[in-house]
Amino acid sequence: MAGSGKRTGIDMGMRCKQCNQPITSGNITDSAFGVFCSEGCKEKYETFVQRAHQLESMRRPFSLARTLKTFIGKVIVILILLVALGVLGTVMPDIPILSDIVRSVRDFLGI
Ligand SMILES: [Zn+2]
Repeated sequence: MAGSGKRTGIDMGMRCKQCNQPITSGNITDSAFGVFCSEGCKEKYETFVQRAHQLESMRRPFSLARTLKTFIGKVIVILILLVALGVLGTVMPDIPILSDIVRSVRDFLGI
């Protein structure tokens, strides 16, 4: 007399976010991420979202640090080149091609 085990329920007009099956009042599994047809689908989706978040939070500070490092590296290289050029101009003032550049660089650096 009891039900045949599998209840069909009323079609809710929604689809499972994990497997895209139609959601019915019999199989609806609600979650913060949406509705799913079963606990299994809900868990799969939650695991997927959590892993995506983990990967993102792992990647973001790393790439930021790398961008910052690259930027600082470039600035340091440019500064070293400018200082080297200024020193070179002071040590060897009779290089005609350099003198103009060296003068402006030394003006810029205040040497
Ligand atoms: Zn599903």
